[in-house]
Amino acid sequence: MKLNNKIAVITGGNSGIGLATAKELKRLGARVVIVGRNPEAVATAALEIGGDTLGVTADVGRVADLDRAFAEVREKAGRVDILFVNAGIGKFLPVGETTEAVFDEITNINFKGAYFTIHRALPLMPDGASIVLTSTVAVHFGMPGASIYAAGKAALNSLAKTLAIELAGRRIRVNVISPGPISTPIFGKMGMDKETLDQVAAGILAGVPLKRFGTSEEIAKTVAFLASDDASFVTGQELVADGGMSQF
Ligand code: NAP
Repeated sequence: MKLNNKIAVITGGNSGIGLATAKELKRLGARVVIVGRNPEAVATAALEIGGDTLGVTADVGRVADLDRAFAEVREKAGRVDILFVNAGIGKFLPVGETTEAVFDEITNINFKGAYFTIHRALPLMPDGASIVLTSTVAVHFGMPGASIYAAGKAALNSLAKTLAIELAGRRIRVNVISPGPISTPIFGKMGMDKETLDQVAAGILAGVPLKRFGTSEEIAKTVAFLASDDASFVTGQELVADGGMSQF
């Protein structure tokens, strides 16, 4: 129970990697707060995680929502020892087919949302707290269609380094988990039909030496490592959990 007495806030905690991480951190003793944009999905996931899990509704792309969310966290949980900045969307289009609206939607959630999640959580974070951001293996190579998604995630890798040095005086560690392809509901939210999705999945698999998608539970364990004192001398780092995809 190495996370006993820790309060962990997880954005995008109602689905996929965030939900699995919420369960893992709870299993290790933390009290968990999940943040998501769909109130019913958040309430259902909070029940599934169980115990005294708190579900908070907020669209991380709206700073006013984050203000409300962290006011609720302060009132009901008091502080944030672990912040998992994980909420995100994936949309993939060739550069010529993107629009300002798509750019704004992805960037508002994946970069601005992550930035202001940390900004608004920081006043609740004690010295020695830990922040983990979800990036992606796609920052390490050119992936067709990922111009906005990958650049926005690469911004998180940069942000983690800047914040790691800025917050080192408070012993707040800031690290990045970069998953490879992980079986989660995100692929079903991209607006592709089944045939296209199957083709995309086959293309991805061809590039993964371990020849499978990872699971949310595998990523949850890496987040638990980075968030816990097991990683007490690790900050400003990226952990790539990708079945070897980025190395070959
Ligand atoms: P997921 O199951 O779709 O989970 C994403 C979560 O983020 C959902 O709870 C989603 O809420 C939430 N979210 C999205 N926009 C939000 C907003 N504006 N405000 C609040 N919550 C919002 O997908 P996942 O695969 O677990 O993704 C988690 C993170 O991993 C993302 O940042 C993604 O980019 C990253 N990632 C995933 C993979 C992969 O292969 N799965 C690989 C690399 C990186 P809804 O349920 O309402 O949509």
